[in-house]
Amino acid sequence: MAELKDSYGRRISYLRISVTDKCNLRCRYCVSGKEFVLKKREEILSLEESERIARVGAALGINKIRFTGGEPLLRKGIDYLVEKISATPGISDLSLTTNGTLLKEYAARLREAGLKRINISLDTLNPARFEKMTRTRLWPQVMTGIEEALIRFDKVKLNVVAIRGTNDHEILDFVKFTRDKPIALRFIEFMPIGDNGWKPGQFISSSFVRSRIEREHELRKISQLSRSDSAELYQIEGFEGTLGFISAISQGFCENCNRLRLTADGFLKPCLSSDVEIDIKSKMRSGANDNELAELFIKALALKPREHNLLGEDGTKRRMFQIGG
Ligand code: SAM
Repeated sequence: MAELKDSYGRRISYLRISVTDKCNLRCRYCVSGKEFVLKKREEILSLEESERIARVGAALGINKIRFTGGEPLLRKGIDYLVEKISATPGISDLSLTTNGTLLKEYAARLREAGLKRINISLDTLNPARFEKMTRTRLWPQVMTGIEEALIRFDKVKLNVVAIRGTNDHEILDFVKFTRDKPIALRFIEFMPIGDNGWKPGQFISSSFVRSRIEREHELRKISQLSRSDSAELYQIEGFEGTLGFISAISQGFCENCNRLRLTADGFLKPCLSSDVEIDIKSKMRSGANDNELAELFIKALALKPREHNLLGEDGTKRRMFQIGG
């Protein structure tokens, strides 16, 4: 089987494909107050172009793909793309990250199309706070979406970005939410990305969140950080769900990094925190063959840094909805 390795010997097998920069939420920490311009339609990769890039990646050793955005369920034909890529030789794991608002409509179709796993992002269990945080009233739709995902998928993850002064007092409510639901809950450290207004005072480390939970519950570690999961996993006796902590800032997991990103406007991005990007769209649109596109994957790997630079000065200018998370 083909293998892609970067300059540090890490095997790269995971591609995150962003299919749109549009989102129906306006989360304050992601879409910050400053002006932004969405990409024009012709700047966004067509479904066929995304599929082709995935196919080229699969031939090189990519076996895992995640769709993201923006909100990927806003992209017309996402189920078609899932179906096409799930039939691509070499792809064994297909997942999608969504804000959940459209899952009632899409979960069954996505499952049928071949999607294996779903990650839902939700940062508050309080509808009024949701409105404040996302500038929308779509909280009930997310809750319905979670229920639907639990019916249609065996594996549902719920991602919570913990932010001091915003949702930190809900940590135990989220834990309680997984008592009778087979949800893999994951607390994510809040990262400074693309001038999103991140302030050190808003940051809560995973170890803080964990110790808050440990005041009420005994946690049993069930897995370490690994190449296949960037979260450490824990279980609470009697709970259906599991708990995980994604600690990009306090712990980092770059030595296990196995991923590349493809932005919706067609750039291969070797690292979330850096603006180094490879323009695969222009090359493809100027008639490149698959071998030439494969060379761009190799080039992207050569530019993959050893570690992220999330707290440094020369971070990415793109905001998270323009990368895909
Ligand atoms: N719309 C989809 C969703 O909500 O999951 C996919 C795109 S969204 C940008 C992907 C993930 O990035 C979400 O879980 C979101 O909470 C997370 N995210 C956005 N900005 C972040 C930040 N500054 N730090 C940590 N996570 C962030």
